[in-house]
Order: sequence, then C-alpha cells, then structure tokens
Amino acid sequence: MTLTSPSGDTRSDFSRMRPVPDNLVGDLNHVNAFTGDRLAAGVVDADAPWARERATGLGARVWDPTILKAARDANRVLPELRRLDRLGHEVHDVDFHPAYHQLMALGFGSGVHSLAWTADQPGAHTARAVLTYLWNQIDGSTACPIGMAYAAVPILRSQPELAPWAEKVVVEGYDPADVPIVGKSAGTIGYFMTEKQGGSDLRANVTVARPVGARGPGETYLVNGHKWFASVPMADCYLTVAQTEGGVSCLLVPRRRADGTLNRIRINRLKDKLGNKANASSEIEYHDAEAILVGEEGKGVRTILSSAEYTRLDFAVGSAGLMRAALSQGLYYNDERTAFSSPLSALPIQAPVLADLVLEWAGAAHLGFRVARAEDHQDDVSEKLVSRLLTPVAKFWNCRRVSSVVEEVMQSIGGNAYIEEHPLPRYYREAPLNAIWEGTSNMMVMDVGRVLAREPKAVEPVLDEIRPVAAEHPLLAAAMREIEELVETPEDTARYLVTKIALAVQAALLVEHAPTPVAEAFIASRLGTGWGPGYGTLRGVDVAAVIDYARLG
Ligand SMILES: Cc1cc2nc3c(=O)[nH]c(=O)nc-3n(C[C@H](O)[C@H](O)[C@H](O)COP(=O)(O)OP(=O)(O)OC[C@H]3O[C@@H](n4cnc5c(N)ncnc54)[C@H](O)[C@@H]3O)c2cc1C
Repeated sequence: MTLTSPSGDTRSDFSRMRPVPDNLVGDLNHVNAFTGDRLAAGVVDADAPWARERATGLGARVWDPTILKAARDANRVLPELRRLDRLGHEVHDVDFHPAYHQLMALGFGSGVHSLAWTADQPGAHTARAVLTYLWNQIDGSTACPIGMAYAAVPILRSQPELAPWAEKVVVEGYDPADVPIVGKSAGTIGYFMTEKQGGSDLRANVTVARPVGARGPGETYLVNGHKWFASVPMADCYLTVAQTEGGVSCLLVPRRRADGTLNRIRINRLKDKLGNKANASSEIEYHDAEAILVGEEGKGVRTILSSAEYTRLDFAVGSAGLMRAALSQGLYYNDERTAFSSPLSALPIQAPVLADLVLEWAGAAHLGFRVARAEDHQDDVSEKLVSRLLTPVAKFWNCRRVSSVVEEVMQSIGGNAYIEEHPLPRYYREAPLNAIWEGTSNMMVMDVGRVLAREPKAVEPVLDEIRPVAAEHPLLAAAMREIEELVETPEDTARYLVTKIALAVQAALLVEHAPTPVAEAFIASRLGTGWGPGYGTLRGVDVAAVIDYARLG
C-alpha cells in the first residue's frame, strides 16, 4: 500500500519500516585464489617456485567479478550450430557468446594448457597442475579444450607431419579464426573417439580409414564414419580413431585442409547437456575426411591412450579445483552469515560438516598434486610406477568425490546456493562429468587391475612412501596390510582396493604436508571406525583447526 503524506511523501509502508538486517552474503571477490590457498601455494613453493608469479596472476582472476560474470554468461547463453551460411554453403560453424572467447583467451593466454611443455624448469607439470586447479575454479567448459591441448602435445611432437599443429598448440594465446593452421597465431585440438556403440571400448569402433596412396605413419588417409561425442568441434584439428587394414588406428584430422577448404566433416548437432554448457559437444560424421596417420596402423588405442595419463591427471586435479571452488564459496558464506546469533561456521552441527568437506578437498588436492609430481620425475623408475598406478586411482577418487562435496557445500549454504545467480548451481552441474569422460570410474578401476596384473610390483613404491608414516599411525599400518593382501586378488575386490589405495595415500600425504589436526582427523575418520559416509559425523576432532586450513587468507 502506498501512502501520500501531507508533505507529499509517497514511500510505501515497507520502506517506512525499520531497516531489515538482511544477513545476505555478497560475492567472494576480495581474495587471491592462489596466494590465499595455503595448500596450492605450498605446492608451488616446494616444487616450482619459479611459477609463483604466474600462479598469483591467475589466482587474482579466479574471484574477479568480470571473470565470474564471463563464466556465468558463457554457460547461460548456449553455443549454436550454424551448418549453412546465408548462401547455403556448408560451414559447420559454432557461434559462442563472446564470454566464451574471453575465457579461452585468458586460459590459453595464461599457459594453463602448455606450461608443462614450455617452461623447461623443474616441476613444470606440477606448476601446470596448480594452474589447472585454479582454472577449474573459474570454468569447467573451457577446461576441456585446455586439458586436451595439454595432453596432446607429446603425440603432436611425435611425428614431423604434425609439426604445424604441435607448434601452434603450445603457444600462449588464443586465435579463434577458422582458417588453416598455418595462418593462425595459436591452435586448439579436440579428441574424437566415442561412437554410438560405446566410448569405453574403442576397439569396437566402426569408423574406417583407408590410405589415399602409401600407408603408414604420416601418410594421408580418408576417414568415413561418425563420432557420437565430439567436444570442441571448432578446434583446428582432432585426434581420432578408426579401423584400418592393420586394425584400430589413430589419425589427426585437420578442420581445414591446406587449400583452406573445410575438411569433409559434418557437425550434425550439438548435445543438450546437463552442464559444461559453454563447451560445444557435438555429433559429427566423416565423409572422406582427410587425415594423417599417427603412429603405426593397428596401434591406435595405444597411441591415443599414451595421452591418457595427462588427461586423467588433469581431471583429477581439476576435480580438486572444483571442490576448492565450492568450498571457498561455502566457507566464505558460512563465516559471513549468522543464525541463532552465531556465524554458521561455528554452529556445533554445521562446523563438523565443513571440516569433513575440508578433509575431502585436502586429500583430493594432495593426491592430485602427488601424481603431477610423479609426472615431473619420469626418469626415475619408482616415480614412473607411482604415476602409472596413482593416475587412475586419483582420477577415480577425485572425480567420484567431487559431486558429493559440491552438493554438501550447497546444503551448507542453503537456498541461496540453489539460485542461478550463485556459482554453486554451475559447479553442481559440472561435478559429475569428470567421472564420465576420459575413462569412466569403472575404466579407472580396470586400469588399476591391469597395472597390477602386468606389474605386480607397481604398488611397492606407493607402499614404500606410506610405510614410514604408517609406523606412527596404526590405522594407516592396518590399511597398508589390507592393501598388500588385496593386490593378490585385485579382480575380486577392484573398487574396494582402489578406494583403499586412494585413502591410504591421501592419509600419508596429509601427514607429510598438512597441519596435524587435518591429518589426524582424516586418518581417524577415513581409515577408522565411528565415521559415517554422510558428512559431519567427525568425532573427537579439532574441527576449528581443520576448517582453518581451508580458509582463504
Ligand atoms: C559432455 C561430454 C563430452 C564428451 N566429449 C567427448 C569428446 O570430445 N570426445 C570423445 O571421444 N568422447 C567424449 N565424450 C564421451 C565420453 O568419453 C564417454 O561418455 C565415456 O568414455 C563413456 O563411454 P559411454 O558413454 O559410451 O559409456 P559406455 O562405454 O557404454 O559405458 C557405460 C557404463 O558401463 C561401464 N562399463 C563399460 N564397460 C565396462 C566393463 N568392461 N566393466 C565394468 N563396467 C563397464 C562404464 O564404466 C559406464 O559406467 C563426452 C561425454 C560427455 C558426457
């Protein structure tokens, strides 16, 4: 009801009321996501101090309101497929919101995709892992092309015919022009493997490739068939797999041929996805598409999987980054908002929930960075085994846990985190994806089984690392003994074994790198009894100290 006072005041009843203390929490935008995160900053200080300035620069953008808005806009206004131009010519082009290009320019311009290959410094994979951890706090959609570019470099550098793409994909920059690679300042790459009949079993692919003339690595082939999932169709080239006379083979398909014409690839439609919205994921067909054979015919699965250790590392660390993003939002909110005259974060039933989430993030992040460190020491036989075993373990574990972490953070914030203006709904939709692509959870478990079947000693360097810590922690010692028994029959206990390895390694890493209350709480809850899978059931734990580990400072 609007009142008109004798003085002409037309304020409503509502505005005449006493100011309402709204208790609403503004945006988190005053902290650097790198320097404020002692875990990430500690990793760089220990392994790659030369990368501090770069990580600080990217960390400053994570909670920058303009970047948050770009991530929101790019994921709300969906990419659109344009198959024909105004004159009816096939163009198979995708139109993106300008914010998508803004994010691509920032991510690729910051070297998130390439630092590991260009830095020529110790700890380059770890430094790059910290960048991708930060990037996944900004946006999961652009994390896809960034991660694929990172993973593809060794393959692109393996043959001289691929040099034009190898050279451009590592450039720190972004060039969206749809022209042949020679005319571009920077390049991007996609991986087109999955077909309708299934993504896990690449040997069942039906797409075919035949040589135009001579057969063999570097020769030109024509590809015919389809791919049911093909993200980043606007990339400059795609690594794909197809059947040749010699068996399943890997090929590089340029988007444009050297004469500038579009290669014969049709984009049939873009997928309508749960999340990861700004990333165009398409269904495509090859109709005599020109391609270059990569590696030998028949070795395609091995060739393409040679990059899996990088994509899987990327998603393991990326999932820890997504946990970190949600947790940063959750802790900030819980510290700022009050209920029953207390900050939410100090409420006796809420605080253990937050502490439990901190343990999930801390374990996942240290596990991911441990795998990155192994990647930096591939000349050491033990570290090679560590990365061979722990890459699928970390991809399995971190990508499995992230959904429940994001959901529980949403719960800890309440209704305001269910509203699209808050970043949480975007994280929530993003969270399940990393467990699906680049090898599902079961594929990771099978991969661990494969490693142990071929190389039973692969578990030794991992156990050697845990052993000294276990000497001081009986629960960890018991977990070790259990792992030693389980590796004898990995196929019967597959998921349980992988879970045990993940938990034991995280526990040992936390003892080494995290404050004592964090490590003790992790060991007591994850390796002991008296803790439930629902969050907030920690007992006898210094909850305040655990939460403090994750507060952005
Ligand atoms: C948003 C999005 C984007 C994507 N982008 C790309 C892309 O750019 N390029 C690309 O190539 N692919 C892409 N994919 C596809 C993705 O890699 C596949 O979805 C994934 O590899 C799984 O394949 P599938 O979905 O066909 O499932 P399937 O292979 O049919 O598997 C279904 C289920 O069965 C399980 N399973 C299968 N075999 C076994 C077994 N032997 N033992 C136990 N369990 C088993 C799997 O773990 C899974 O849980 C994308 C997917 C999504 C969702």
